[in-house]
Amino acid sequence: MNQRLTIAHWIAQACEQLAPITETPRLEAELLLARALDVPRASLLARLHETADLAAATPLLARRLNHEPLAHIFGEWEFFGLSMLVQAPLLTPRPETEHLVEAVLAHLTAQTTTDRPCVADVCCGTGCVATAIAWHAPHADVYACDIRADAVDITRRNAERHHVRVTCVQGDLFAPLDARCNRFDVVAANPPYVPEHEWASLSPVITKHEDPQALLAGADGLDILRRIIRDARTRLKPGGMLALEVGEDQYESVAALMHDNDFESVRAIKDLARINRIAVGLCAHPMSPASPQE
Ligand code: GLN
Repeated sequence: MNQRLTIAHWIAQACEQLAPITETPRLEAELLLARALDVPRASLLARLHETADLAAATPLLARRLNHEPLAHIFGEWEFFGLSMLVQAPLLTPRPETEHLVEAVLAHLTAQTTTDRPCVADVCCGTGCVATAIAWHAPHADVYACDIRADAVDITRRNAERHHVRVTCVQGDLFAPLDARCNRFDVVAANPPYVPEHEWASLSPVITKHEDPQALLAGADGLDILRRIIRDARTRLKPGGMLALEVGEDQYESVAALMHDNDFESVRAIKDLARINRIAVGLCAHPMSPASPQE
């Protein structure tokens, strides 16, 4: 693209190139250019007929045309009102995951005990869930774990960025948490839940740039959810809440798994697309001492 154009001209050309790959080409063109010029989008729109050296925008546009998510290009993305650091190939924070945070905060708010509640975010990825919970529930002890070292590292950095305390540990599901807290008030997770056969039908924004291990979970997408539900049962206090993000059409199966593992008051929370997106249930049993088994 010619480097000395009016801003309006650059946006129009970028918009045309982006149209085949996104439903919001104009918005994205504006955001990319604003980012490249390091100005707010509003001030860009006030200067539409000015000519400027727009060379810095070319590589950003090229990355987006290669289906890279804007969040990865910008290195940050808003989640639950907080700007989170984001890094490939970790999953970019999705709006539907905000309902997971809402469910946890509602449960914590309803608690009457004066003890500090203990909350775990299992499969934390960028740590957006743990960080948002810690920010809104400063009285809670929040733990986050992920199997990937880079996820644990960025979770730590997101917590620092928002001046909240999150204990970040690396390992497989509950394994790294067992030595630190053996009874949680809340276990929250947005685990991998996509059935393997659906991979080819996902958007290239996902398949080219996000970690398949963070998305895929066996033939029915329930492999990790099954393990979390089974293991959470011995890690939650009686009455403690398990809150899980699930895939479209998975809620009924997940609710059945939760009932099989003695969870009570199991219900679904819908996302803005009216999909049963979050499964929540309460741990019913006074359990015998936790006997972690991975
Ligand atoms: N909702 C995600 C998607 O866009 C999946 C996230 C997950 O597997 N936890 O595919």
